[in-house]
Amino acid sequence: MKTPVPVSFEFFPPKTDQGHQTLLKVYDELKQAEPEFFSVTYGAGGSTQERTINTVIELNQRGVPTAPHLSCIGSTKETVVELLDRYKDAGIGRIVALRGDLPSGMGHTGGDFRYASDLVSFIRSHYGDQFELEVAAYPEMHPQAPNFDKDVDNFVTKANAGANRAITQYFYTVDAYKHFMLEVRKRGCEIPIVPGIMPITNVSNLVRFSDACGADIPRWLRKQLEACSDNTVRIKAIGLEVVSTLCQELLEAGAPALHFYTMNRSEASLAILEELS
Ligand code: FAD
Repeated sequence: MKTPVPVSFEFFPPKTDQGHQTLLKVYDELKQAEPEFFSVTYGAGGSTQERTINTVIELNQRGVPTAPHLSCIGSTKETVVELLDRYKDAGIGRIVALRGDLPSGMGHTGGDFRYASDLVSFIRSHYGDQFELEVAAYPEMHPQAPNFDKDVDNFVTKANAGANRAITQYFYTVDAYKHFMLEVRKRGCEIPIVPGIMPITNVSNLVRFSDACGADIPRWLRKQLEACSDNTVRIKAIGLEVVSTLCQELLEAGAPALHFYTMNRSEASLAILEELS
């Protein structure tokens, strides 16, 4: 499939053998879109870390470059080096560098890193240019930031610490991306910022994720989805139309690539790409 822009796809590490088999199938299906890379999320604070490492190394060996997410909160420099050395030895060349969130109740971190910018600086000082570094961006503001301007300042500090590129939290309002880009560029930061795209297939999951990560579901969209929340076919049709239009508008606004939050499924992302092409 010829896509109109470079694409990448994000997975989470599967918990079960069946989840693992499904992921390999989804990987093969998404490979048709000739992605630049796949990425695999990483749980801060311990729970899924070994699964991320194994999944990244396995997927990378299957042919498409695969990037681990690496969240630094609660980690020491020694454990980060140990992990990055493992990735380097396995031929991994790209890292999604994050602060992460500690699971609630874990309290004080005790680690060597406070912000993702500390991790980016540390990787650059320790490994030079051996890794391409992606960082996170929040067009609708990170939920813990004191205000939008401060959050953009912090983003630019992180980019200037040595990030090659950023991937955004998902959003459904193209103006949020345009405004964020304007503010970042005003501050003299020129790194590519790739919109993160969340296909819509299930309303209750979408509402739950959005509440947790601070992504806004605009009223016009929420009302439309709520009106048919038990009709999966209708939800998918609305989701396809809304998200394809969003992607089209993002590309017209100059988005350099698209990064899909796949939830370990291929159908919705491929349908959007089909619409775009
Ligand atoms: P940071 O860039 O460090 O920012 C966190 C907060 O600190 C922001 O409010 C920022 O304004 C503020 N800040 C930054 N620097 C400073 C400073 N110097 N002084 C004061 N305040 C500052 N989470 C996971 O656990 N695992 C994953 O795999 C994962 N993947 C993700 C992928 C993407 C593309 C995105 C967008 C998010 C992902 N997350 C993941 C979620 C992310 O870890 C959380 O949003 C987390 O709360 C912030 O991480 P960050 O890297 O953006 O942090």
